[in-house]
Amino acid sequence: MADRQYRYAQIIIDISHEKLDRPFTYRIPDGLADQVEPGSRVRVPFGHTVRTGYVIELTDHCDLPEDKIREIGEVLLPGQGYSREKDSGFYIRLAAWMKDRYGATTITALKTVLTSRKTGSPKVRRQIRLLLDRSAAEEKLAFYHRKHQVARERLLRELIGTPVQPYDLITTRLHVGAPVIRAMKQAGVIEVESYTDLRNPVSISPDTAERKILSPAQQRISDEVVESFEAGRPGVTLIRGITGSGKTEVYISIISRICRSGRQAIMLIPEIALTYQTLLRFYRHFGDRVSVINSSLSESEKADQWERARRGEIDVIIGPRSALFTPFERLGVIVMDEEHENSYKNESMPKYHARETAIQIARMRGACVVLGSATPSMESYYRALRGEYRLFTLDERLTGGSLPCTEIADMRMELRRGNRSILSRSLDSLIRDRLARGEQTMLFLNRRGFAGSVSCRSCGYVVKFRAGTQQIETWLQEHFPGARILRMDADTTARKGSYEKILSAFANEEADILLGTQMIVKGHDFPNVTLVGILLADLSLYANDYRAAERTFQLLTQAAGRAGRGTRPGHVVIQTYKPDHYAIRLAARQDYEAFYEEEIRYRSLLGYPPAGHMLAVQIQSRDEDAAMLTAGRIRDLLQQRAVPASLIGPTAALIGKLRDNYRFVIYVKDAKYDTLIHCKDIIEAHLRTEDLPARDLQVQFDFNPVVPY
Ligand code: ADP
Repeated sequence: MADRQYRYAQIIIDISHEKLDRPFTYRIPDGLADQVEPGSRVRVPFGHTVRTGYVIELTDHCDLPEDKIREIGEVLLPGQGYSREKDSGFYIRLAAWMKDRYGATTITALKTVLTSRKTGSPKVRRQIRLLLDRSAAEEKLAFYHRKHQVARERLLRELIGTPVQPYDLITTRLHVGAPVIRAMKQAGVIEVESYTDLRNPVSISPDTAERKILSPAQQRISDEVVESFEAGRPGVTLIRGITGSGKTEVYISIISRICRSGRQAIMLIPEIALTYQTLLRFYRHFGDRVSVINSSLSESEKADQWERARRGEIDVIIGPRSALFTPFERLGVIVMDEEHENSYKNESMPKYHARETAIQIARMRGACVVLGSATPSMESYYRALRGEYRLFTLDERLTGGSLPCTEIADMRMELRRGNRSILSRSLDSLIRDRLARGEQTMLFLNRRGFAGSVSCRSCGYVVKFRAGTQQIETWLQEHFPGARILRMDADTTARKGSYEKILSAFANEEADILLGTQMIVKGHDFPNVTLVGILLADLSLYANDYRAAERTFQLLTQAAGRAGRGTRPGHVVIQTYKPDHYAIRLAARQDYEAFYEEEIRYRSLLGYPPAGHMLAVQIQSRDEDAAMLTAGRIRDLLQQRAVPASLIGPTAALIGKLRDNYRFVIYVKDAKYDTLIHCKDIIEAHLRTEDLPARDLQVQFDFNPVVPY
């Protein structure tokens, strides 16, 4: 709350239009004085209507004549409710940074960063409690095992470790379905309990016995991060470490040390990579001081979590991108796992990158940032090598379990030898072998960026690989009669809950083969999988995109990591028409550094990020001529103003027409980010002041895009 009384408020009206993208002044009526502060949502008269708006600033004086100023009608939601004046403007400043850096109207930037306060009533939550004592539970476990009731066995084993667990965690992350839970409840093994308490969504108490003694390499990272933070040099740290090398244990150590001094932590994980085991580890360490947000939470459930954060009831929040905006006034650290993931880029305006935004928030709050990945983004590794970030490497798997044996199958050679099948001879015989032994196989179809057919440059052969996952499934079924096959792609997961269903069926060993697109390669641990086949590794290489090699390398490395997670060794077969391409060769060897060296040479040569910067300007409208005309005018304008950047286009976008909208794109490239911001400002000024040839015309900016346009 403001410590003094102001008479006027500067308000951004909730209409996303360049021409209205400026603050309007309103008078604060006496009765509302204690509720209006930066961040408050209000209703105000606007033209002949009443509109919602956000207060961005309070002022004492106003240049307009008194009788021209209208009054705020109603306060919908008070501001963030901070007692200290310094913090009330935090989100307004963050939104201003976002608008400047990524381009958007003030209102869209504000809506992105301002988390709403709780409005509805608390939701009922459920948890599962084990009712048996240790020996009875062990007996039951042996019984389930004999009966081959895999899901029951899995749940019971986990409950013996941690006897009370959140219901959602069990169904969505442990892949145990509601019917199994009902049956175990009826048998008196477990109880399902409900509670509505906002304060206590998880009643796992922190378990100190759980703490691991860090290895010297882990300890060194934790010490350096925490000691630099305490010495007032928070900075950014990058940890490169293969899966299983102990990164998460380091995150937990850093977070608990920093939280011990009264600070708070944000742990970002791409939602799809957030496994049951990881979540449970956090619950065990931080008990009810940790909270998780994800996309399955409703707005009011999210608001619940934010309200708890605001009240200081939690210290740690785990979640995807939007968890960055958790109202933590005493933020000490932001950890970002799998920092190379594309899902960290926001797809709608403002197209912010969570990594850059995390670094900005940390700077504003005096917090440190820890990035981690097995295959760091080119951006982060580049900065780390230049000394902008601290760099650490963890290269030993702590769980034992050797790295899988990886082979490349040259599909050109297979063709020459008369094999026209989808499978190389090697992969074919390895699958037969797994079927005979009762072990599981994952087959991965790398379809992203795939456009009908591709040709092999060295031999000129055109691969008519039109087959989608469904055709391949049919083919596999005929080829391996009797094999139980599950398919996971955009079609089979369209219905809510089907994604979890497929994964739990596979986890319960109800299938021998899981066939799918890249959604199967992330974050799932299936100990019985000993073979991973990548059907055509090069498809993602043909995309007209400067990040194609990087994405291929990451996908292949990740897919290979799925094999041999249990005690048995794993085998990986990468099928390709380009066995010599560096992304494929080096992924098979899991040689990140060699890949980075090759890739950065290419990016530097062409001035692509991270060696330079790039801005994609997308112009769209239902009126094709209007969109094309505007795109041309934007290009002329940039040329007239003699911006030093190089311009490419305008051209029709990769998807030239989407939902009746015609789309054109201009690429702007320059060594300096500021030059691109300058270009964006010129374009925005043009849109604000000129009459545009179509009312629905939209211009979107994407700085250093992660997907092609
Ligand atoms: P990552 O996050 O890199 O995949 P984790 O932190 O999950 O790695 O560690 C992999 C496995 O090794 C986990 O089962 C974890 O409990 C175990 N582990 C990690 N650090 C240690 C340690 N210092 N001592 C014993 N086990 C450890």
